[in-house]
Amino acid sequence: MKAAVYTGPGVIEFQDYPNPDAGDGLLLRVKACGVCATDVKAFLGRRHGMKPPMILGHEFAGEVEQSKVPGFEVGDRVAAAPYAGCGECHLCLSDHEELCSRKVFLSSGAFAERVSIPVALVRKTAWKIPEDVSWEEAVLAEPLACCILALSACRWKPGQTLMLVGAGMMGMLLVELARAWGATRILVSEPDAKRRELATELGSQVFDPIGGEDVCAWSREQTEGIGPDVVIAAVGNARVVESVIDCAAPGGVVHMFGGLPRDTMLSVSAFTIHYREVSLIGTSGYRTVDYRLAAEMIANHAVDLKPLISARFPLEKAREALDLASSLGSLKVMLMP
Ligand SMILES: [Zn+2]
Ligand SMILES: [Zn+2]
Repeated sequence: MKAAVYTGPGVIEFQDYPNPDAGDGLLLRVKACGVCATDVKAFLGRRHGMKPPMILGHEFAGEVEQSKVPGFEVGDRVAAAPYAGCGECHLCLSDHEELCSRKVFLSSGAFAERVSIPVALVRKTAWKIPEDVSWEEAVLAEPLACCILALSACRWKPGQTLMLVGAGMMGMLLVELARAWGATRILVSEPDAKRRELATELGSQVFDPIGGEDVCAWSREQTEGIGPDVVIAAVGNARVVESVIDCAAPGGVVHMFGGLPRDTMLSVSAFTIHYREVSLIGTSGYRTVDYRLAAEMIANHAVDLKPLISARFPLEKAREALDLASSLGSLKVMLMP
């Protein structure tokens, strides 16, 4: 088969690659694969543990070509999660499957014509894509699952106000999710005018942080002086995270959604944490239960993901797709082998 192989920092080569087989699970003919921030980081050589040569891509959907799993037939339209916890360790059993150190992963990425899914992932996460759901929408179950874990960890309740700081792809997905989960108000702080425009179309009130006005003062104005119940920082900038911690309502939650380099330190007001009882939290990844809920929501059109898909490339243009995905102007970039 053909695959877009990551062969060194900044290099992707479109090459012949040995055909995988179904193993004990499924072999899919890949129809769509999302380009994610993790892929971009790996491609730029900034992700330890993702060493070349390897095939990137973990947000995929495709048609079953071989099946060793009862209930899945050749020709089925299927998507599945790229990892699942072992299900047996302390973390898996205490509702922190995303932190399991013995996860089952895909053996190889999906920037390729074919991908095989081990039976453990099939049993826990594979789902059949309804006819009226596109390949690209199905692919978004994985990023949506990460948003579901994040918003759940914020103790989200219908009727609350969310402030989203940074409206990139994941920020927009969080806006969609909060709306589906009964947000009364959604506030978005985002420097890019195009993104603010889309956030407005998705029903949020928007703020330009470059304008010189104070984001916390603005967010209090929008919330009868209280502040948003939940603040999610979907940005890769520690100073921006620090600047929004004091925006949260008393008793509220601030979530660090964007990953920051390992040695990053934050300066936080002790008063805010103790006397205003604001929680500062973070999550990364998803649990199987989040992935399954994401798939259900997509299958039932509980979220409208179409506006978030900004570009499609054939597999041989993986390099261009990664370049575009790392630029400000894009939301979700898809590879369509
Ligand atoms: Zn991803
Ligand atoms: Zn585990």
